[in-house]
Amino acid sequence: MHNPQHGKLVFSYCSLMDIIRHTLRFTVHVKESLEVRGVLTGTRDSERIKVLGAMPISHTDELESPLDEEFFEKVEKYQNKNDVEIMGWYHSHPNRSPSFTQKDRLNHHAFLSRFPDTIALIIDPLMIGTGVPFTHLMRVFTLSYPEMGGKSPAMELDKIKVRAEFGGVVKSLVEMVELSKRRQPPILEFGEDSDITKTRRVKKVENGRQGEGSSNLKAIESFSSMVLKEKVQLARIKKGMDSRKGLDVTRLTKEMRTLKISQISLSEKIDHRIHRTTDVQAKIALCRIRDSLTRDMRRLEALIDEQYISTLAELTRM
Ligand SMILES: [Zn+2]
Repeated sequence: MHNPQHGKLVFSYCSLMDIIRHTLRFTVHVKESLEVRGVLTGTRDSERIKVLGAMPISHTDELESPLDEEFFEKVEKYQNKNDVEIMGWYHSHPNRSPSFTQKDRLNHHAFLSRFPDTIALIIDPLMIGTGVPFTHLMRVFTLSYPEMGGKSPAMELDKIKVRAEFGGVVKSLVEMVELSKRRQPPILEFGEDSDITKTRRVKKVENGRQGEGSSNLKAIESFSSMVLKEKVQLARIKKGMDSRKGLDVTRLTKEMRTLKISQISLSEKIDHRIHRTTDVQAKIALCRIRDSLTRDMRRLEALIDEQYISTLAELTRM
């Protein structure tokens, strides 16, 4: 298992956008800023933790209150429903520096006891756009000795890398603050009704800047239909494996490999588009498509593993 104290930490553009949109939703529209909480999902290997997504879970006016059972229930439900791996959690310190307080340590200890080797991200959203360096408004910690609980010294992970051009990220963040002030585009917490966002998002992209707006819309439509096609292909592979009747292993392996290559190439194209476009609304729509593809990529990986194991089992029987 990868210990977060060593190695690198990488954040995808989409995950950062979602964390910040969540904090802004409960910062710029309310009289008193609320604290937001969510989870970080992604992948890990021996060298790095990659945070690929962020899911808003809850908000509260009781700053630094303990992570309760309701929070963990939602996280587990989200995890099971979406087949994601939890890398850590985040919460906001609106207008307070993002330091790892005693209460944060206790909360992180509770989080670690359910999700070992994970990280805690703390962000002050009100510092965005004030010229404060990015790495100061967002900090990541874990406990040096999790077995000591809240008494453990904190360990700051200082190797945050953003999978995007740095200047571009800051520019989009500032733009996002502006959009957020106009309540556009909204972000939902896990379990909230999603009908409003869908129509609003598409409309907004349609009305986007001329030229780039319509080209973005085309890209969004074409990427989502490509992701959908690959989803159908994935379902076919899964169905073939489940029935096992007249299973042509060579053909199945070939299909899996072809789909995997195609998924990787598509994910690179979407990432490129996310980073290239200057329209934040379009970035958000593209991030949603990318998230869905990421989940399918993980599902295919699992099927490949399963297939490999069952082939091995058959070979041993022979
Ligand atoms: Zn805190």
